[in-house]
Amino acid sequence: MVFSDVFGENQQWDTTCTDLQSFASSSKALTGVERENEKMMELSKQYEQFGISEAVYRFGEETFASLAPRFAQIDENAEYNQLKVIRAMQTAGVSEACLLGTTGYGYNDLGRDTLEKVYAAVFRTEDALVRPQITCGTHALALAFLSNLRPGDELLSPVGKPYDTLEEVIGIRPSRGSLAEYGITYRQVDLLSDGGFDYEGIRAAIGEKTKLVTIQRSKGYQIRPTLSVSKIGELISFVKKIKPDVLVMVDNCYGEFVETIEPSEVGADMVVGSLIKNPGGGLAPIGGYIAGKSECVENAACRLTSPGLAKEVGASLGVLSAFYQGLFLAPTVTAAALKGAIFAANLYEKMGFAVIPDGTESRHDIIQAVTLGSPEGVCAFCEGIQASAPVDSFVKPEPWDMPGYDSKVIMAAGAFVSGSSIELSADGPIAPPYAVYFQGGLTFPHAKLGILKSVQNLVDRGICKLL
Ligand SMILES: *Cc1c(COP(=O)(O)O)cnc(C)c1O
Repeated sequence: MVFSDVFGENQQWDTTCTDLQSFASSSKALTGVERENEKMMELSKQYEQFGISEAVYRFGEETFASLAPRFAQIDENAEYNQLKVIRAMQTAGVSEACLLGTTGYGYNDLGRDTLEKVYAAVFRTEDALVRPQITCGTHALALAFLSNLRPGDELLSPVGKPYDTLEEVIGIRPSRGSLAEYGITYRQVDLLSDGGFDYEGIRAAIGEKTKLVTIQRSKGYQIRPTLSVSKIGELISFVKKIKPDVLVMVDNCYGEFVETIEPSEVGADMVVGSLIKNPGGGLAPIGGYIAGKSECVENAACRLTSPGLAKEVGASLGVLSAFYQGLFLAPTVTAAALKGAIFAANLYEKMGFAVIPDGTESRHDIIQAVTLGSPEGVCAFCEGIQASAPVDSFVKPEPWDMPGYDSKVIMAAGAFVSGSSIELSADGPIAPPYAVYFQGGLTFPHAKLGILKSVQNLVDRGICKLL
């Protein structure tokens, strides 16, 4: 009865199954290898439309196949961070109302205040300031400095020269409104030639006036290793042992979600970054964050808005939904960018170029440096990235005098958010050693396309040969 009913119903399924089986057996004429080849042919035709040759495509596929175990590790990391972010949103009680915004003064902006709780939970800090009024990463860093230092204090960088745009903030290059103008001095201890910390030099540089120590996690426009969170932790312990009340700030740009812990979990009093990099997940159209000790964050809020007003004002307008959704996507977007960087490192290494990090070493930010050795190489690379973009693919990037940088810089970016470097982008100063800094990619397939196109450009222009 019941059995026969079921059997009756299955009659139809049987025929369908037979059809499928006969279809399968006809294609069984192809061996596994042949089917694999067929799939590659179809894909390589897609790449051909972008001017990528069969040879470059195959070169990419061989490299890609060898990276499976590393990519699996990155996915696992993204999974961990995805759960961290969801849990932070749940604990903070994110509701639909949080996605709306305020105008005017922005008093009692529920979404803004809740988002700041979410950031504090993600970075495991007491508080956070996450605002569209923080215009970029440099602004967030300048804000952290200018609000937490007072005339007579000294700022110390124990990891060498900071990011280019900070030279004017600090006053290394004279500039209006710099820390130097306010009587805040600066000291720097370079990394040792092997990339390690110069502990003796650092000990000697910490003095009475030292108030804030700034540590840049990412290499920025330098050929030096990026610091792992655990290395940063070692440095912080060392510094705090010498001077317990010194504040430590980490420039966290490009580092967020690359590991499962953040520098704020190893003793940093503040972590600072840009929302048009990792934590904005490609969706935030503007913004920066400072997460850290309540007092540090309060100081920053008083400087960003006004003494007395602090965090109470600052309308979020319409950006909160993008801030939340971007943070939600950030772990997997960062993972895509990391895979792109590793793919690029391995391809360029095989072609004989110096790459930092190298193809196999562990990653602590999403930046990949490739030393191309000539202005032509840098331009060919950047043009390849640009030509693969969803936006402005027809534009040819040219080197220009960019504000805040001391040599000409070429930049490739066909981004939905102008200047966003969590989106696929590349830039390089036109100066020796002619290195290009490549980063981002909201999806791995896009990063892969851009990298293959850059390789194709170099091959077509005779700058290098496929081995
Ligand atoms: C990008 C970056 C900055 C500056 O951020 P902007 O948003 O470009 O102003 C500072 N430090 C590091 C390490 C960066 O990568």
